[in-house]
Amino acid sequence: MPEYTVQTHGADQTEALAASLAPGLHAGDRILLFGDLGGGKTTFVRGLLRGLGHPDVRDVCSPTFALHHRYVGGRLPVDHLDLYRLEGGPALALQGVLDPLEDASALVVVEWPQRLHERPAGIVLEVYLQRDEASEDTRRVRLVLADAATSRLAPALTRQPRAEDSLP
Ligand code: ADP
Ligand code: MG
Repeated sequence: MPEYTVQTHGADQTEALAASLAPGLHAGDRILLFGDLGGGKTTFVRGLLRGLGHPDVRDVCSPTFALHHRYVGGRLPVDHLDLYRLEGGPALALQGVLDPLEDASALVVVEWPQRLHERPAGIVLEVYLQRDEASEDTRRVRLVLADAATSRLAPALTRQPRAEDSLP
């Protein structure tokens, strides 16, 4: 599982990083986003949507209360889940919240995937966003690629400047 660590300075750079991955994404892919509130998970999703050519990406927000937003109109339909409010357990599946994970025609992006009890199939990327002491607008973004998706996602990442202390 190759991984890359990138430092972003401002939401624009996190968006651009996410957008750069869009050309390598396919229907059926799943992306897990980890990090505290305000870490930049939704910002990353906005970048993915922009990269996929979805209109009105400025309206993208966390589906914290709805739990799920579906975006159509770009190259791929995108299901955006935010499981923050869920305790997990069987109720989660009963509510149908996880139904998008059964849909192979969409890209599914999950905030707070810690709430899932089972690891979904089709994970191509796990993103860990962390605030950085350097400044209020700095984030350390660790991207872990699934082996099967490396050839289509790694090229965008090798073009990114790596965080200095993660260089080999
Ligand atoms: P989450 O979904 O993880 O709760 P959001 O993406 O909704 O986080 O919010 C991140 C907040 O941090 C936004 O207000 C954004 O403008 C700000 N921010 C500042 N610097 C960055 C950065 N480097 N990357 C992402 N967001 C940043
Ligand atoms: Mg969010």
